[in-house]
Amino acid sequence: MLPKRRTMTDAPTHEVRGGFPVHFHYTVGIVGEIFFNGLKEKKLLGVTCKECSTTYFPPRMYCEECFTELTDEEFKVLEQQGTIESFTKTYKDHRGNPLAEPYFLALIKIKGSDTVFFHRLINVDEPKIGMTVKPVWNETTKASLFDIVGFEPA
Ligand SMILES: [Zn+2]
Repeated sequence: MLPKRRTMTDAPTHEVRGGFPVHFHYTVGIVGEIFFNGLKEKKLLGVTCKECSTTYFPPRMYCEECFTELTDEEFKVLEQQGTIESFTKTYKDHRGNPLAEPYFLALIKIKGSDTVFFHRLINVDEPKIGMTVKPVWNETTKASLFDIVGFEPA
């Protein structure tokens, strides 16, 4: 006679505690490379799908609406202006530690795009949905999201 088979619900469980260090480099891909190089030149590069006319900022490799591949021929420089679609005030950093100075984060729709971009709001005490904002660039850029210090009221 076979022993009664155990199920996941009555099986004893083990817990092993410990750290698991993982170090890796993330490549931004073909489209990300173009996007970040645009930031280095203080340009907001978007891409428009030829099939359905959806404009993405940041650009995508494939259209999320119709799955058309978006090539580098479709990249265009967008205006240095956007509107706040949503925002929140954050009091803690990404590790949950209290910030010395709380700040605003926002979803911003860059003029001419159909998508939103996540970045920090600066030089504003009371942001409002629909408020027009513009990027404030660092003097020196290095192809990073932090080439933009934040977005301030335009
Ligand atoms: Zn499309």
